[in-house]
Amino acid sequence: FGALESFDPEIAGVLVSELDRIRGGLQLIASENMSSPEVLTALGSTLSNKYAEGYPGRRYYGGCSEVDKAELLAIERCKTLFDADHANVQAHSGASANMAVYGAFMQPGDTILAMALPMGGHLTHGTKVSFSGKWFNAVHYGVDKQTEDIDYAEVERLAKEHRPKVILAGGSAIPRLIDFEFFRRLADEIGAIFWVDAAHFIGLVAGKAIPSPVPHADVVTFTTHKVLRGPRSGALVCKEEHAAKLDKAIFPMMQGGPQMHTIAAKAVNFKECATPEYAAYAKQVIANASVLATSLGEKGIRPTTGGTDTHLSLHDLQGIGVTGADAEGRADAAGIVLNKNAIPFDPQKPSIASGIRVGTPCVTTQGMGTDEMREIAALIAKAVTEGDADPDHPVSKEVRAGVTDLVTRFPAYPRG
Ligand code: PLP
Repeated sequence: FGALESFDPEIAGVLVSELDRIRGGLQLIASENMSSPEVLTALGSTLSNKYAEGYPGRRYYGGCSEVDKAELLAIERCKTLFDADHANVQAHSGASANMAVYGAFMQPGDTILAMALPMGGHLTHGTKVSFSGKWFNAVHYGVDKQTEDIDYAEVERLAKEHRPKVILAGGSAIPRLIDFEFFRRLADEIGAIFWVDAAHFIGLVAGKAIPSPVPHADVVTFTTHKVLRGPRSGALVCKEEHAAKLDKAIFPMMQGGPQMHTIAAKAVNFKECATPEYAAYAKQVIANASVLATSLGEKGIRPTTGGTDTHLSLHDLQGIGVTGADAEGRADAAGIVLNKNAIPFDPQKPSIASGIRVGTPCVTTQGMGTDEMREIAALIAKAVTEGDADPDHPVSKEVRAGVTDLVTRFPAYPRG
């Protein structure tokens, strides 16, 4: 680090101030985590230099003997972790892994049935601004008005009406467990591929804290940087019968050379995820999310679906008369990082939104438990209901003092 500091103090300064930012506030973005120094070491290694188009033992470049070892370890550890027939660890991101599924199973114009973005889906699930909605015909399901959970009757009706090639389950703002058996039965009934985008919750599966989609789905894609706590990247696991198709879709169809440093970091992460410590972490993430959701609800910040079974909860702010955008700004001014989020049937446009999404992967990595979640709920409620986007506002200052107390007791990336 010293060499970077003397050659490029501007970028070195950003690295230090970003670390200070992480350490100084409460990180409640549900899709973020704090990967280990071991994962970061692999990421910052000379494996970044190596071109290795192809797969282990079948490369289009010489000199791949060492990076082959890293990729084989990542593949084997990933297969073991998820008890999967086949793993491809080359996707550069969750969106790339998703693109590979379209590439493997669909032709332009074919139909996919997926969850709508404003109901909890993801951009790559057929929205018009994404390749997935530009090149494919997306039919979207939502949530039930009463339960605010997936509207399974609508999924069934749309599947039978549109006969999609692929049915997709998963999304970015789904607090409840998904009924994978239901989707499998339905896909079999209409002869569709069943795909699960497990980006958000795969870490909970790795820690055996929630049921796995792997036995049910034809293919499961995921990111590696959310609850899983690995490097910023993606991967997929699938049934053996789809392995060759999906491998060809990742390379050469849509990616060039794999990022071998990131693959090495994924291997480290999969090893971490197989430990009892990680399993305890995954369970604690859920316990924390559940208490945080309930405690916020007690302060009038209503959790949709009544709570959560996972690492995240979605909260409706209409009852306290605050928008998602205002809540995000007020929390930020007090050192609490969370995001505004559309809630089901949201009357606001997405840039304003009526809700916030909070998640516990980061604070649980810092060692916080359910008592601290009650403290965090009180701090959020104070900032959101009485605060201001001005960091010098007295409420911002008061809440920030509470945040500082918490992060001093539970430091991120402890010094030394
Ligand atoms: N799928 C889901 C459900 C996601 O939530 C995300 C990202 O948040 C992605 C895919 C895309 O992942 P990435 O940002 O790595 O491309």
